[in-house]
Amino acid sequence: MKIISINAGSSSLKFTLFELPERTTIASGTFEKIGLEDSFYTIKYNGEKIRKEASIPTHTEAVDTLMKELLDMNIVSSLDEIEGVGHRIVHGGSEFTESVVLNDDVVKRISAYNEYAPLHNPANLLGVEAFRKALPNAIQVGVFDTSFHQSMDEIHYLYPVPYEWYEKYGVRRYGFHGTSHKYVYNEIKKFLGKDNLKAITCHIGNGGSVTAIDSGKVIETSMGFTPLAGLMMGTRSGDIDPSILEFICNKKGITIGEATNELNKKSGLLGVSGVSSDSRDIEDAIASGNERAKLAQDIYASKVANYIAMYNNMLDGADVIVFTAGLGENSKDMREAIVSRIHSLGVTLDLDANNMRGEFKCVSSKDSKIPVYVVPTNEELMIALDTYDLKNK
Ligand code: AMP
Repeated sequence: MKIISINAGSSSLKFTLFELPERTTIASGTFEKIGLEDSFYTIKYNGEKIRKEASIPTHTEAVDTLMKELLDMNIVSSLDEIEGVGHRIVHGGSEFTESVVLNDDVVKRISAYNEYAPLHNPANLLGVEAFRKALPNAIQVGVFDTSFHQSMDEIHYLYPVPYEWYEKYGVRRYGFHGTSHKYVYNEIKKFLGKDNLKAITCHIGNGGSVTAIDSGKVIETSMGFTPLAGLMMGTRSGDIDPSILEFICNKKGITIGEATNELNKKSGLLGVSGVSSDSRDIEDAIASGNERAKLAQDIYASKVANYIAMYNNMLDGADVIVFTAGLGENSKDMREAIVSRIHSLGVTLDLDANNMRGEFKCVSSKDSKIPVYVVPTNEELMIALDTYDLKNK
């Protein structure tokens, strides 16, 4: 059965077409700069990649163009072959605890959470609207970044603020990257063959979060009410003293919105190093002796290490630590910098095994008290698998 996985942003749309249950990727691609002058798209199929410039004023034209290309390139012989469309939706509040079939009523209920993720949710729903028109016979499914984390208990999702903030305005920890944490957890659980597995999953890419999971239930995750919380990231600060906001607004004469924007876009690795948000640039700068780049890497690694130690405590001892996403899968230096800071847990790397990129692999030494694995994430596949399951229900 063919299932297409969709990630619609405000000016982009990414797709991956899968054959399930075989888990084969048939084709993938992106539509970029939707609504701008120089829009273009790329499609990868049969080992080849095409790139075309085209007028793409809205998501509807992006989806119509994609449907036409799928037919013209003989990727499908009829659009009816695509039996399901899985949409990434960033925020489903505490209401959507699992993936859901999208209909008018559900779409309306999801849009109630737009104010929690104003940059993402409305764009995700534009994708939904376009695909509901283009493929009216296919099942449309919403897969939320937040839903895996809704198994958290109150003790871990409530902030110690006036209770009314939670009751009236929904201020609580929601957590994000749930699709990725769930995917790598399921993969490592399958591999280790242990049902009641206690895992600490570290999704560290441009955004980053760490999650403590016990027997498939999220105990706690480092992102919070928004993805700004928790770890230091590429351009986000992660946790800081909230009083800094008022102080810096007064000092710089800027609004809270402007200061929050600096915390989202100008902080993290970029803010501390002054070099880049990309850890490849940071590693190059360190190699050429840039001390602030080294400081940025050290702070980053220290934050991840401290979350791992805290979550190991919450889990009363983890069975496994997993690294995933851009840095987790590809940066041996960052893995080394993190693990060198959790020696108190008896965790050590095998430096030879760690000297690799992007493989599903155990990278800890034989005597490490907790094994450490790299598990490449695949959020697109997880979205397609949930869609497939709901189609077969
Ligand atoms: P993601 O958000 O998961 O796509 O991760 C993107 C980030 O992964 C980039 O900004 C880089 O910081 C990091 N990354 C990707 N490849 C490498 C690599 N070979 N070495 C170090 N960092 C990498």
